[in-house]
Amino acid sequence: MSEIALEARNLYKVFGRNPQQAVKRLKSGETRNEVLDAGTAAVIDASFTVNRGEIFVIMGLSGSGKSTIIRMLNGLHDASDGTITIAGDQITGIPAGRLRELRRDRVSMVFQHFALLPHRTVAANVAYPLELKGMAKAERLQKAEEILALVGLDGWGDKLPSELSGGMQQRVGIARALAADTDILLMDEAFSALDPLIRREMQEQLVELQAKLQKTIVFITHDLNEAMFLGDRIAVMRDGRIVQIGTPEDILTDPANDYVEQFVQDVDRARVLTAANVMERPRPVVADNAGPRTALRQMRDSYMSATYVVGRDRHLVGIVTDRDAVKLVRKGETSLASILKPVPQSVDEDEVLMNLFIPSVESPLPLAVTDAEGRLTGVIPRVTLLAALGPGPGATGELTIPMQPMPATMIDEVLAEAQNAVNAAAATDTTASAGENAEEVR
Ligand code: ADP
Ligand code: MG
Repeated sequence: MSEIALEARNLYKVFGRNPQQAVKRLKSGETRNEVLDAGTAAVIDASFTVNRGEIFVIMGLSGSGKSTIIRMLNGLHDASDGTITIAGDQITGIPAGRLRELRRDRVSMVFQHFALLPHRTVAANVAYPLELKGMAKAERLQKAEEILALVGLDGWGDKLPSELSGGMQQRVGIARALAADTDILLMDEAFSALDPLIRREMQEQLVELQAKLQKTIVFITHDLNEAMFLGDRIAVMRDGRIVQIGTPEDILTDPANDYVEQFVQDVDRARVLTAANVMERPRPVVADNAGPRTALRQMRDSYMSATYVVGRDRHLVGIVTDRDAVKLVRKGETSLASILKPVPQSVDEDEVLMNLFIPSVESPLPLAVTDAEGRLTGVIPRVTLLAALGPGPGATGELTIPMQPMPATMIDEVLAEAQNAVNAAAATDTTASAGENAEEVR
């Protein structure tokens, strides 16, 4: 389905006296420590694919082999064994000249410590890869300005890097990598040197940029929260080996082993889990061709003072309240149309939990979750939202706005009254009863 931008197969890197022997012994089952006499096994049997347009994160503690992998991906290190292919072309074992082309045309890199040229202006730094490609000066400076605008640095082109803050310098680093206009961007701990708040801003900006530019990004970090926030998929490394590859949700909810589990224990779930991960079956909900009595029963059964109303294909069309529904029943009307109110709050399935608190507090009903087509796919009661964030303090009643549904007995009375009226008229409310089967709403 998705196109593969980059693939690593059974990749090994051993630094030291006898890499080939070390690889052979690793393959026959010896451990990293057992082969130390032959060399340091920095990467052991790593296999993964990166899809086009994906942010693929490689995460692990310091020394686990992340930088070594990324340096093999752009040819700065030879692999001791295994293969790397970029868009189908094998790059392991190619001559130095072609490696230079690779770095110029296909893969660019953003470094932890920015690696800007200190005596050149910001614009000249950004234009540097274009200079390598032989673009004329005026043209490349013009291009540099465009790219600087893209990373929020318009107007800063004439400054020197030292006149910029750390976060801004790294934007220059990113702009320079973008200037090369390669499909693949490698980022090795690109935000690790930045203050936490700036770092967060940069993460958000990278996600925005990615949505716009659709690059393929391999992002290295030792920070799990960063990995979870940025990664479409994450490879977790330990002592040279990849121990799990999965989506942030996979890794959070189904860690492959104790090591990964310990790693994810203190992750900020609010930034990782999405509405779709925690939502429940939509409830209360009625179809728009249902009548007020069905609506009231739904509300009574779920202890709510209102219910969602969905149209064809489960499109969310509004809510009705118990009081309005009662009035309608008393008037003997059967269509909800006249009492339909706009949905006060709804969120997209992909929204992270962090962004659900305010809508949740403002929503009189369990928060409605919709898909890209506006269909009601689930709801999130406030307690579910709190529970999803795991054990610990915070799950107090404080967030809960008291809601006062009408007492069930009162609704029953109204329904009974209505039933009597119907019986008395022995009448023909067929449209209502057709729609009055809540089970039709799924
Ligand atoms: P990470 O980026 O995850 O911190 P690295 O890939 O830098 O890890 O390092 C992995 C292992 O390889 C470490 O034990 C490190 O000491 C070793 N290593 C990395 N580069 C070299 C090198 N050029 N020479 C020898 N050992 C190295
Ligand atoms: Mg590193």
